[in-house]
Amino acid sequence: MKKLKRLEHESLPHKSKSTRYEFAVIGAGPAGILAVAALLKKGIPNDTILWIDPEFKGGAFGKQWANVPGNTEVGKYRAVYQQIFIILKTQHHVSLDKELFLMINALKSDYACSLKAAAEPLQLITNLICGTVNSIEGMVLSIDTVPSGLSLVVTNSRGEHIPYIARRVIVATGAEAKSVPLPLKESSKALPLEIALSAVNLQNYMAKNPGKLTHVAVVGSSHSAALAVMNLIKAHVRVTQFMNKEYRFATTIQDEKGIKRIQYDNTGLKGQVARWTKQLLTNQEMYASQWQLVMGDLDDLSKYSHVVSAIGLKAVDTLKINEKPSVYVLFSYNKETTETAIPGIFVTGAGYPRQVRDFSGEIENNVGVTKFWPDFQCAVETWIKKPAAPTVSLESMNLFSQQKTSRPLEPMGKILAKL
Ligand SMILES: Cc1cc2nc3c(=O)[nH]c(=O)nc-3n(C[C@H](O)[C@H](O)[C@H](O)COP(=O)(O)OP(=O)(O)OC[C@H]3O[C@@H](n4cnc5c(N)ncnc54)[C@H](O)[C@@H]3O)c2cc1C
Repeated sequence: MKKLKRLEHESLPHKSKSTRYEFAVIGAGPAGILAVAALLKKGIPNDTILWIDPEFKGGAFGKQWANVPGNTEVGKYRAVYQQIFIILKTQHHVSLDKELFLMINALKSDYACSLKAAAEPLQLITNLICGTVNSIEGMVLSIDTVPSGLSLVVTNSRGEHIPYIARRVIVATGAEAKSVPLPLKESSKALPLEIALSAVNLQNYMAKNPGKLTHVAVVGSSHSAALAVMNLIKAHVRVTQFMNKEYRFATTIQDEKGIKRIQYDNTGLKGQVARWTKQLLTNQEMYASQWQLVMGDLDDLSKYSHVVSAIGLKAVDTLKINEKPSVYVLFSYNKETTETAIPGIFVTGAGYPRQVRDFSGEIENNVGVTKFWPDFQCAVETWIKKPAAPTVSLESMNLFSQQKTSRPLEPMGKILAKL
């Protein structure tokens, strides 16, 4: 088995380290993990890939959303993970210990598991890939276009700033919940989505703040809004829900050719949340003292003890690109190809989702492990073809690559030509 060792700046003198790469992937949430896996699958040499995240713990999946009931079936996760294990085994001779992901193996294929169960194999994959590519624990502070490509500055836990050069950068830095603007004096009323979406987190919050959660306004009609409502009502909290459109439910239907398709696959309510919400809608009178639905404009939010904003996600803004906040620069990304206005920079993940038109014409964000993986098989073609304008020859790029394997490096121009 390959040695699972992460590069640590502390243990390596910077001068002896080369710092130029063909690809830099920023972020080790599901999108970053699968982006690196897609590059490896495509045959991009492991030693030309730089992967950066402050902790490599599976991103939001394994953290704030860990206790959230997901809407992806176990069998679909397994199919993706299996493919990645095969790539690592056949291309990088990494041996696997299946015992390490017992949680998901013990579940039925058609069960929509918690994100925690799906995150466990993702962590294993992360560890394996960290031992294969050049992984750096740190935050990317900035990306700047320079004559030799894209210059990244990474800060590590010791506060040191380390520069790297890459010809292509994939930004997979994730997303955070959009929030309803609350007046400053009301801002303490915001109940974070990661609490409302998890029955466990909600229970803990209520135990720490007894009697405080009396009447909650939930804003939104998304899967997250429905999940928050379900958790709050089950915890005997009164809810008023504001929606500007009706709920949608993911539904399997047959198209005109007789092929089974899922309508509202990305935006509709699924699984346990869908079932519970349907019974809420049909038994509204029974829930009248606990749940009120307001279609249309927001009420005066000062009436409520807390407010849950479940109105979608927005890209996090953790770095600067050419001296401007990344969200301004990347805002107009191509939702089909993942390209941005800056040559060589691509975006992906929950922050910058690919948009798809479902067969009924609905435009949806394609987000989640099982959506990212097939998407990246196409996106990788764009990533390879569109580097930052090179002022150094492709042939010379291998000189910059950090040698983590003992095999002689093939010139990058030849490698890319073969793909
Ligand atoms: C209610 C709900 C249900 C869900 N259900 C499902 C489901 O059924 N199936 C499914 O697959 N997914 C599900 N998800 C999860 C969804 O797929 C997430 O959106 C996913 O975790 C996003 O992955 P990401 O990699 O884009 O972002 P993240 O997981 O947020 O990862 C981003 C990473 O980037 C790093 N980062 C940020 N800035 C920098 C920087 N400057 N430098 C270096 N690193 C940086 C962060 O540390 C983090 O590790 C659900 C989510 C919710 C809220």
